[in-house]
Amino acid sequence: MDPAGRVDELSELIRDHAYRYYILDDPVVADAEYDALVKELRHLEEAHPELVKPDSPTQRVGAPPSDLFTEVTHRRNLLSLDNAESPEELDAWEQRMVRLLDRPPAGYVCELKIDGLAVTLTYERGLFTLGATRGDGTTGENITANLRTIEAIPLRLRGSEVPDLLEVRGEVYMPLDAFEALNQRQSEADDRLFTNPRNAAAGSVRQKDPAMTADRRLSIWIYQAGIIEGGPTFTTHTETMGYLRELGLRVNPASQAVADLEGVKAYVEAADASRRDHNYQTDGVVIKVDSIADQEALGFTSRAPRWAIAYKFPPEERTTLLRDIQINVGRTGRATPFAVLEPVFVGGANVGMATLHNEDEVHRKDVRIGDTVVVRRAGDVIPEILGPVESLRNGSERIWSMPEDCPFCGNPILKPEGEKDARCTGGYECPSRLREWLAYFAGRSAMDIDGLGYKTIDFLLTEGKITDPADIFTLGASDFEGYEGWGDVSISNLLAGIDTARDRPLARLIVGLGIRHVGPSAAKELARHFRRMDALMAVDGAELTDLDGIGPVIAEAWAEWASESDNQELIRRMAEAGVRMENPEPEGSGTGLLDGLTFVVTGTLPDHSRDEAKDALEALGAKVTGSVSNKTTALIAGESPGASKVTKAEAVGVPVIDADGFAKLLSEGFEPAP
Ligand code: NAD
Repeated sequence: MDPAGRVDELSELIRDHAYRYYILDDPVVADAEYDALVKELRHLEEAHPELVKPDSPTQRVGAPPSDLFTEVTHRRNLLSLDNAESPEELDAWEQRMVRLLDRPPAGYVCELKIDGLAVTLTYERGLFTLGATRGDGTTGENITANLRTIEAIPLRLRGSEVPDLLEVRGEVYMPLDAFEALNQRQSEADDRLFTNPRNAAAGSVRQKDPAMTADRRLSIWIYQAGIIEGGPTFTTHTETMGYLRELGLRVNPASQAVADLEGVKAYVEAADASRRDHNYQTDGVVIKVDSIADQEALGFTSRAPRWAIAYKFPPEERTTLLRDIQINVGRTGRATPFAVLEPVFVGGANVGMATLHNEDEVHRKDVRIGDTVVVRRAGDVIPEILGPVESLRNGSERIWSMPEDCPFCGNPILKPEGEKDARCTGGYECPSRLREWLAYFAGRSAMDIDGLGYKTIDFLLTEGKITDPADIFTLGASDFEGYEGWGDVSISNLLAGIDTARDRPLARLIVGLGIRHVGPSAAKELARHFRRMDALMAVDGAELTDLDGIGPVIAEAWAEWASESDNQELIRRMAEAGVRMENPEPEGSGTGLLDGLTFVVTGTLPDHSRDEAKDALEALGAKVTGSVSNKTTALIAGESPGASKVTKAEAVGVPVIDADGFAKLLSEGFEPAP
């Protein structure tokens, strides 16, 4: 397309997106995509200045006010900011200023760029009289009544010496916890979810009914003085902001004055790294020239000051096509839906898949196959789908529901009453479940078998070398020889990894069994108390609930698992293949000093971890349980004990022993109080 045509097309697109974003609070593309369109238009206009029209979106700010509110003509225009996305663009910005000033500016201020809604507040003789949106920079909307409901906006300035007229600019935002709570409420009421805190804040401020705004827990950061009349004058932005803070306005403490561009770049880097540490969303850093004299010398373009720039962090949200929804069957049989996406680059990585957690979540978010969806990937957090862009639907989208049969094994997928997850009923007949179980068994949190990852597991399954974890321990070199990719070194490394795993502590083996509800801490307690797998396999569920941290759900899950003959056979085969089935006895066993007595341990003891304390008691013949009853001999309470345990002990008359008493107990046995 010729440049003129493309300029028209881009202008049209950008105008439309700006209207949806600023007026309807319902954008259909992520910010990064909008910014890319603006950038392309700006580059085209730079190359062809004759194509710049006075009404081009690059020449103006935001969008004209909506007719929901009365119009306010700003006393002084509210502008936008130029953007930078790389350190080189910051250098270029400084160079432009050097051309105008003949030197670099005398110092900068770095501020977090809050992702919310720009507003201006006017105080006359200390009283809040007018609040408005930025609108198109010249005219905004009168939202005074709504802003009055925000607690962080003082209705009266502090101190006796307030200026006659003060006009300040700031960003209204929704704190992240308020945003989550709002979406929770929306979801419970079956209402539309907000895709991000910015849209939620903008929508909340621009409500017809101020009571609605009041309900939304908004806040504000003030970042600029527009007009100060009949008050002090300042030579730097930093001083001005200090003054606004004294007047009781909310100024972000993360702002920092730095000497030069090196300082700016260091601030930007640190701010990007810690951007998720705040209870609000930031999308960059705003850098301003600190000296007011320099600011005045630099002045403004039609849409932005020359003395400030917004450095944008890499985008964490993008829109893309949801091609399909498929399911995974995990090691406990849980069927988890996930989104297959048209790949997008977001949060520093290419994203082609995102979890959708469960069927309810898919319906709560109302994402449909064929939707354009907003994808978010922040830091190392796994990518998530925030929601569909409903206005882009054309009717061809398909509502997804959980398949009735497992796509991997054909057995029914069922969702037990009252549970949120659906499960494949195929047991380990399901190849997906088996594969996940094997990977979990060999993984870090369980047997930690060096060299046995998904790739090797897939090889072993396809070649029919293994059908369960016990088979792993019967593998020999001949199972690999002659296969592509398996040389002597890789074979002997894998076999050595398997050999090492034979001797892992009992708790790791228990974790590796992949029993639903029996996680690492339950496994540790079972192994610590029983020490031998044969004792554990013979246990009856009720006996387990006495143990610390083991409730009826875990007890039943274990007992049921242990009662099944297939599982007993699995354990037998692992034992036969040399897998360790017991933990060593703790030191000092067998003196019987505490035979027949029962203790409960709570809080932190100075010389023993909780497990060591329990081991020491059991080594002397005592029983250690998890809750206090009238059968308890004594409660051993260290630092910060569980309050309910102490109260219970006092209520049923069980003695409470402190750290000194515990040391004595171990050396001299238990002596009931006279
Ligand atoms: P901008 O967000 O790039 O920068 C200017 C704004 O930054 C100011 O108006 C102010 O509100 C804000 N700000 C936050 N902290 C500040 C601080 N400390 N000092 C000064 N200002 C601070 O520019 P813009 O003109 O407001 O709008 C562009 C933004 O809106 C972009 O992020 C763009 O992606 C988004 N947008 C998106 C769509 C869409 O369809 N997704 C459409 C239009 C605009």
